[in-house]
Amino acid sequence: MMVEDVAKAALSERLDVFGILHAEPDDGIGEGTIVLLGPAEPGFWPHVTATPEFGDGEPDPLDRWSARVVKRIATTTGGRALLPFGTPVRPFTRWALRSGQAFVSPVLLLVHARAGLFVSYRGAILLPELLEIPKPPPHPCDSCEGRPCLAACPASALVSDRYDLSACHAYLDTNAGQTCMVRGCAVRRSCPQGRNYPRMEMQSAHHMKAFHP
Ligand code: SF4
Ligand code: SF4
Repeated sequence: MMVEDVAKAALSERLDVFGILHAEPDDGIGEGTIVLLGPAEPGFWPHVTATPEFGDGEPDPLDRWSARVVKRIATTTGGRALLPFGTPVRPFTRWALRSGQAFVSPVLLLVHARAGLFVSYRGAILLPELLEIPKPPPHPCDSCEGRPCLAACPASALVSDRYDLSACHAYLDTNAGQTCMVRGCAVRRSCPQGRNYPRMEMQSAHHMKAFHP
């Protein structure tokens, strides 16, 4: 199987290839090529919220949907499903960096070549073959004028040298903080690298509610 086969199966569930890397002995998953999957935009949120997991009233619909479809993609492509939640714990952040498609931003969040600070991973497929790895793009922050992420947090909770979770949660309880709750974290929204990756505000609101119930 090729990465293109995974990409095709993933796209039918509005997922996209977000990075490719070879497994290493420390990963504990054997040999092969890891294909990282993240939301394909536009269209991810309307697609996923129309699935049974979002209508059954049970908790964690996004994770349950991810587990179901990533396992199905793995079966279709002769690979093995790897998930970024539950056990065993998989090092998705480390894999993202090793793939060369994601980088450490000045605010220490991951920034992705296509999704910017909206990057997220819904799963990965381990293919048994050692496939060719594409050449990585340049670090997007090296050419980012003004680095707006550094000054975007209205509560100064997420800056270059710290993420003050208490300050963030306190701000989210205020009237002014409702903008973050409804539209998503201002730091993530400030990144020009994600401008061509139209994640819907409804999805950001879903994640914010989970982060700050
Ligand atoms: S705003 Fe600029 S510096 Fe900050 S993460 Fe995005 S690309 Fe990098
Ligand atoms: S959610 Fe709002 S307050 Fe919290 S870090 Fe992001 S911008 Fe700052």
